[in-house]
Amino acid sequence: MKNEVMGESYNYKHEYASKELVEKLHSRIGIKPHNPSVEYLRQALVSKYRENKNLRLALELCMGCGACLTVCPAYISTHDIRNSPLGRLSLAKSIIKGHINDCIIDYAYTYYWQCLTCRRCAWACPLGIDVGEVSRTIRSILYEMSLAPNYVSKVVDNLESTGNFLGLSPDILRIIIENVINEIRNEKGVDVKVKIDEPAYALLLPSACADYTVSIGTFKGYILLLNQLGTDFTISTRAPDITNYGLFIDERHMRLIAERIIDEARKLHVKLVIAGECGHGWRVFKNYVIPRLRKYGIDGTHILYITANAIKKGLISIDKSRNGDANYVYMDPCHYVRGGDLINEPRYVLSKVVHNYTFLNEQPGLAICCGGTSGLLAKEMEELSIKYAKLWYEKAASKNANYIVVPCAACKLQMDRVLPKLNKIYNKEINFTGLMDLVYKALITKT
Ligand code: SF4
Ligand code: SF4
Repeated sequence: MKNEVMGESYNYKHEYASKELVEKLHSRIGIKPHNPSVEYLRQALVSKYRENKNLRLALELCMGCGACLTVCPAYISTHDIRNSPLGRLSLAKSIIKGHINDCIIDYAYTYYWQCLTCRRCAWACPLGIDVGEVSRTIRSILYEMSLAPNYVSKVVDNLESTGNFLGLSPDILRIIIENVINEIRNEKGVDVKVKIDEPAYALLLPSACADYTVSIGTFKGYILLLNQLGTDFTISTRAPDITNYGLFIDERHMRLIAERIIDEARKLHVKLVIAGECGHGWRVFKNYVIPRLRKYGIDGTHILYITANAIKKGLISIDKSRNGDANYVYMDPCHYVRGGDLINEPRYVLSKVVHNYTFLNEQPGLAICCGGTSGLLAKEMEELSIKYAKLWYEKAASKNANYIVVPCAACKLQMDRVLPKLNKIYNKEINFTGLMDLVYKALITKT
């Protein structure tokens, strides 16, 4: 079928991972690969439909009211019904009913991987139907057929082989941490202590892809805060990252990546694991990792809970004037509000560390996704993700944002790449920052 008869989203498709890479990933979770055939796709989906009550209810109960269309960022940005909650439900029903042709595998790969799995549709749907879950289910079947995005597969491989998104070696991680310690000394005049691979009370889990790269200020914020609170903490070079791309492709990988963190927490005899700023990472951490940790008497929390508590109890001193008079617009990460119940604390922290702030989303439940989660950070998906990003950019511009505040690694990577382009298009100068970056700047240190 030619592109002109398809919607405009049809032009955007993830590059496929190589056969070798997919085989390597399959072998780690014991998948016997299946050839990409229409019949396998149908049979596997029928079998999931029978086993999985949520999938069955989603496909049976949808009454086609269209409420989800009014909120889905993919549909609003592209006006392509195939790239919408209804389009994705309709495609799944066609596959189950056997109304299929040779292009169906290509359509499924294209449109389920264009979904942000942001769950905004579920929030608006009167029946709570979560089309992101449908997308994840079908992606996993496609993955069994060896059809997987190269970008996502490489990240999963890095996480499983090195414990971090970027595949950084322990030596590089140590250098990054040393540099951060030196910068804190120069900027804040204090010597901070960071244990590396040593037992401690707490294990700190930064989000490697952003905290070690485009948002090092966030990392400094964690380290300074924990030192000021006198928390004995460690960073593991074997599990230095909260990111978990297994969430997007296959739950078996999600569990494998998460178990590495749990193993490391046990080996280091910690009592607490502290999650850094990462939306989807927190979603996995809260819903899967914390319950598993508790089986071993270990608890889990988020750095922003610790920060909010420290401010409320007067355990740290803050000077908000250090963040100047800029206008800060807080953008709730979609996985915090619709997968991690982390809504009030970040907003409270922001209100205490800057003078001028507002919220991008009047209703946190309807938080707009940055457009970079769920594998959309892949280079070949950049143009599509910029279309998705216009939604929040225009809203932030209407609120006269100087900075968008995003306590999420994917949001930061997305903003790092799209803000220069969007600023050029709209002739504006909007920047981004993490929330712990602002805490870092505002913190009055005690020596
Ligand atoms: S999860 Fe997000 S992108 Fe996917 S269909 Fe729902 S609203 Fe649209
Ligand atoms: S809002 Fe719910 S019921 Fe209405 S069309 Fe969307 S998925 Fe179906």
